Amino acid sequence: MSEYEAGNWEAVVGLEVHTQLLTESKLFCGCSAAFGAPPNHNTCPVCTGMPGALPVLNRSAVEFAIRAALATNCRINPSSRWARKNYFYPDLPKAYQISQYEQPYCEHGSVTIEVDGEQSEVRLTRIHMEEDAGKNIHDAHADYSLVDLNRSSVPLLEIVSEPDIRNAAQAVTYMRKLRSIVRYIRISDGNMNEGSMRCDANVSLRKRGSSELGTRTETKNMNSFRSIESAINYEIERQAEVLNSGGSIEQETRLWDPNQGITRSMRSKEEAHDYRYFPEPDLLPLDIDEAWIAKVAESMPELPDARRARFISEYGLPEYDAGVLTATKELADYYETAVGEHANPKAVSNWVMGDIIRIANEAAVDSEPDFSAIPVSAPRLAALVKLIDEGTISGKIAKTVFEKMVTSEDSPADIVAREGLVQESDEGKLGGIIDELLSANPDKVEEYRGGKDKLLGFFVGQVMKASGGKANPQVVNKLLKEKLSA
Ligand code: ADP
Ligand code: MG
Ligand code: ZN
Repeated sequence: MSEYEAGNWEAVVGLEVHTQLLTESKLFCGCSAAFGAPPNHNTCPVCTGMPGALPVLNRSAVEFAIRAALATNCRINPSSRWARKNYFYPDLPKAYQISQYEQPYCEHGSVTIEVDGEQSEVRLTRIHMEEDAGKNIHDAHADYSLVDLNRSSVPLLEIVSEPDIRNAAQAVTYMRKLRSIVRYIRISDGNMNEGSMRCDANVSLRKRGSSELGTRTETKNMNSFRSIESAINYEIERQAEVLNSGGSIEQETRLWDPNQGITRSMRSKEEAHDYRYFPEPDLLPLDIDEAWIAKVAESMPELPDARRARFISEYGLPEYDAGVLTATKELADYYETAVGEHANPKAVSNWVMGDIIRIANEAAVDSEPDFSAIPVSAPRLAALVKLIDEGTISGKIAKTVFEKMVTSEDSPADIVAREGLVQESDEGKLGGIIDELLSANPDKVEEYRGGKDKLLGFFVGQVMKASGGKANPQVVNKLLKEKLSA
């Protein structure tokens, strides 16, 4: 066991998360911000950096940003400034990125996360708006690279956390929470594999009990939750090994290599002064007044934390259920539609948390389930639960019906009728089966009457089997008890 595992070191993690905003047009020009157009199709003199072209701020990008601030309890600054971050790269035709530096539009927020039943708070240092760069394509040709500027100047938010995260699991939970929030408030699709949500992970170690921060590395290039988790764990172990052998950590930028499962040194860390930040002379300060904030606040939907609390109070669900069901807006919507059709909140929750999530996972393309396209619709699920609650089918038969619903569009009632799966509650018929069973097992009947109560389960099982799973368990139990005590 390494010294790290023995608890000598505490990991400290802070994340910088970039989220692409789903506005129709770009941040400073009217070009479409849509993903997937032919290369360099969505471009104009502004976003290709032609001399003399002037930026004009996209109002709806600011409204999206305000929603993000409200959803993360940030304080919105009445006035913030645009800044030029200067660097040269082929995907950045102006040779500077318009960003916010000294005065971001909002600060001092917080996001609550829960890992293994334990809640903690991740404070947000700030969120700022900036424009995205284009995209270099290196692997299309052997001896030259291509540049696609469709993404150039698409609006981004950069969400910077305080170093409040202590392990990889918390980091992933925090990212999931942010993704859930941006999707709830409809400002980003949050797709990590398309790069519309990306994160840089700053990781350092310190002696347990110390309150000083150690030297950090910043790891880039993780495009899935799994790679964020692996990269942070790798970096914690790597740093622990260096420190345990008497070495020191270099402040540097590292790259996650998903194929080898390691982080690699990319460059020594850049400092802010390397970018020669200065106020953007072509844009006015960004002023956001109270009236504008109030107007955006009116259009805010219910957020994940509030919805979770409401699921507990309104439906009487356990905290655990409420957390699972509200983690994505689509699943929460699905649940509420189903409960709206048939008001048995806990039974519906059990189905959603069990079989519905299972089939969504099975249908998932990139390991992320799509809860907006669950093969069994919410009204059909509700109809199934209703059949159980009305005593038409048993819970066991319902599982069979459910599997048939996954592969067809038929209603559960049709499937039950067609397959002859209606529950048998007729006391005469069930009594007949029981009489036969008891006379075939006189010794077991004796044992039961002699006090071996556990045998009741055996008899129930046999009746269920003999009825092809269709016997109503309550009726079977009642009849068995009567006949066995006779
Ligand atoms: P930059 O990386 O752009 O230079 P910052 O200094 O603002 O910018 O830090 C960025 C991120 O690094 C923040 O999320 C912050 O919480 C985190 N961070 C800063 N110092 C440490 C540290 N010693 N260990 C882990 N994370 C840190
Ligand atoms: Mg950084
Ligand atoms: Zn443009």
